[in-house]
Amino acid sequence: MRIIILPKKKILCCLYLLGILLTVPLFFSFFLRITSVGGTLKKTTILIDPGHGGIDGGTQDHHGYLEKDINLSIGLKLRDHLRQSGVNVVMTREDDRELATYQPGVGGRHRRDLNTRIEQAKKAKALFLVSIHCDWSTDPKRRGMVAFYYYRNQAGKDLAFAIQEELNKIQPNPQKAAPGKYFILEQPGVTGVIVEAGFLSHPEEAALLRQEEYQNKIAFHIARGVLRVLPNRLADQAPEVSSD
Ligand SMILES: [Zn+2]
Repeated sequence: MRIIILPKKKILCCLYLLGILLTVPLFFSFFLRITSVGGTLKKTTILIDPGHGGIDGGTQDHHGYLEKDINLSIGLKLRDHLRQSGVNVVMTREDDRELATYQPGVGGRHRRDLNTRIEQAKKAKALFLVSIHCDWSTDPKRRGMVAFYYYRNQAGKDLAFAIQEELNKIQPNPQKAAPGKYFILEQPGVTGVIVEAGFLSHPEEAALLRQEEYQNKIAFHIARGVLRVLPNRLADQAPEVSSD
């Protein structure tokens, strides 16, 4: 066996070249994936659904501030953040209105309202639905933002976990994303989350939720959560690489 002893300089040079050879394909696959995702991002629709509206105020805090207004404000800010990142956004409502239009055979205002939101999600062919709500509890100490998902929808669960992780960066007590029983999330063809942005029954949290700056923080972090899972979701849906 011949042992070739290379000078130290040559070994370093070889290692350097080897490093480049190994990195180039990695870089290219990463680049192609980013190009592909960037191209599809514009064609990706996220449906933002500010809960309640119009005659339906949702819950309220001790000063009479209504959930529907906070939901809308966060929703509009979320829309702007996502649009700035190149995502196509559709809103179920952009002003103070209820969505319970008359539907033959569908009784109950609440059910009609939910049906309209579900129809909008399907019509928009939304990749994700992000519904914004605020919570209320008889326990005045209860606070915190939680992202809910439908336990049988893995993509929805991934989205909820990503959003939760982001929201935990701006709340004092970290929460866990949780499975929830929400009619809107259980619909076939709908993948989404319900973000409960805090408890209006908690005086301190309610005061925060009334502030534009805090609403914007929430919107920013929800957007970050959405953007984190988007590349994976798009890669799952469209495995072929295109550069349009
Ligand atoms: Zn609500």
